[in-house]
Amino acid sequence: MSKKIVLSGTRPTGNIHLGNYFGAIENWVKLQEDDQYECHFFIADWHALTTGYDETEVLRKNTLGLLADILASGVNPDKANVFLQSDLKAHAELYLLLGMNTPLSWLERCPTYKDMMANIKDKDIATYGFLGYPALMASDILIYRANYVPVGEDQIPHLEISREMARRFNFLYNSEVLVEPQPLLTKSKVLPGTDGRKMSKSYGNTIALADTPDEVKKKVMSMITDPARIRKDDPGHPDICTVFAFHKVFNEDKVEDIETQCKGGCIGCVACKRMLQEKMSEFHTPIYDKRTELLSHEDSLIDVLREGAKIASAKAEETMEEVRKAVRIGF
Ligand code: SF4
Repeated sequence: MSKKIVLSGTRPTGNIHLGNYFGAIENWVKLQEDDQYECHFFIADWHALTTGYDETEVLRKNTLGLLADILASGVNPDKANVFLQSDLKAHAELYLLLGMNTPLSWLERCPTYKDMMANIKDKDIATYGFLGYPALMASDILIYRANYVPVGEDQIPHLEISREMARRFNFLYNSEVLVEPQPLLTKSKVLPGTDGRKMSKSYGNTIALADTPDEVKKKVMSMITDPARIRKDDPGHPDICTVFAFHKVFNEDKVEDIETQCKGGCIGCVACKRMLQEKMSEFHTPIYDKRTELLSHEDSLIDVLREGAKIASAKAEETMEEVRKAVRIGF
């Protein structure tokens, strides 16, 4: 039986934080180990331009940093194809062709478009590129005839636009060239930011894989705990404590014990944070060391992308030949 194609990408807009790691990358590592899937993971540098078209000076550094993060986290180029979107010019060709027949209303009603247009005030994103990003996303997926795209519940509407574009293309050109991708629903561990809100770069509450072990330690020791707890023997409320939310992910075996001790006022928050910090260091330091090592050999990192592009290019070109034929463009 042929393997099902899985495709997923991530934008090089800064270093991966633990929210990204548990939200996506941890799952990539699992998928690459699953024999039923052929995995293609890409760095979506053109997508970074849809909102950061005026900040390209950071693109190279962000791309290499992201690649180092991904590989240090366990994504293995021998098991999954890893490539850079802009190395595959065919994505842009399919994006152009999809753009010709995509109704404007589909793009304008996209939830992220509406949400970001309403909320981003510090830069002008009222551009053609930003409006059209769902078509670029669709071309990334459809060009590999991906069967599955790993998504969380909230991202299903995004994938639906790609499915609609595939259907419309096949209908208009009386073809079966494009494949409608299915969502591969993933349940991921959710970590709050160090201040208890959603972990997000814009809140300044992240812990990044690129943070030094010392920075991670400082961030853990300054995490928000149960604010009602003043003295060590005050009964605590772990359910509202950020440190406890982290224990659930990094210290699973001890969670029940910590909960009992906290509620009974038998453990102080400083000791509790120290326990967490030790566990997090076991997870984070090896990844940090590996990414540092990888970044000291930029040429080898770029080679990974070049090799990945070769594999992706063969697949993309196969689809594009059929796409051009279906559209009746060129000779
Ligand atoms: S003891 Fe631990 S779980 Fe309880 S409030 Fe303090 S840091 Fe949070």
